[in-house]
Amino acid sequence: MMVSDAQKGLGGDPGLTGKVFDVKRYAINDGPGIRITIFLKGCNLNCAWCHNPEGISLPAERMYARSACIGCGLCLEACSNGALSLTREGIAIQPERCDRSGHCAEVCPTRATEMSGREIRRVT
Ligand code: SF4
Ligand code: SF4
Repeated sequence: MMVSDAQKGLGGDPGLTGKVFDVKRYAINDGPGIRITIFLKGCNLNCAWCHNPEGISLPAERMYARSACIGCGLCLEACSNGALSLTREGIAIQPERCDRSGHCAEVCPTRATEMSGREIRRVT
């Protein structure tokens, strides 16, 4: 039996894009069987018990883990907007200066800074 794209929930637009913030292999929770779970940004449910708040906003977001930061300052050099500064508490950001370019994450040697959300296009 042929299964249409609509039945698969894929829609008919080959140019369809989505903003992915995580891909989990061997997902065995919250559903039947063993699956690959793809997490998309732009969730509009706003649940009180949300476990993935980085999935709510649609634009990519800078994520920072102080415990992994070695204070090398490479992210500060990479940010042409001057949005970052080194403080006693780690790297601080002025959100209003951030254009979400992700240059800071590209140069971070420890992945203390990462961008959450990258656009993918549907592959037919
Ligand atoms: S995402 Fe771009 S503008 Fe924002 S802090 Fe990183 S380098 Fe600077
Ligand atoms: S590039 Fe990474 S490790 Fe270096 S100061 Fe910035 S966040 Fe910390």
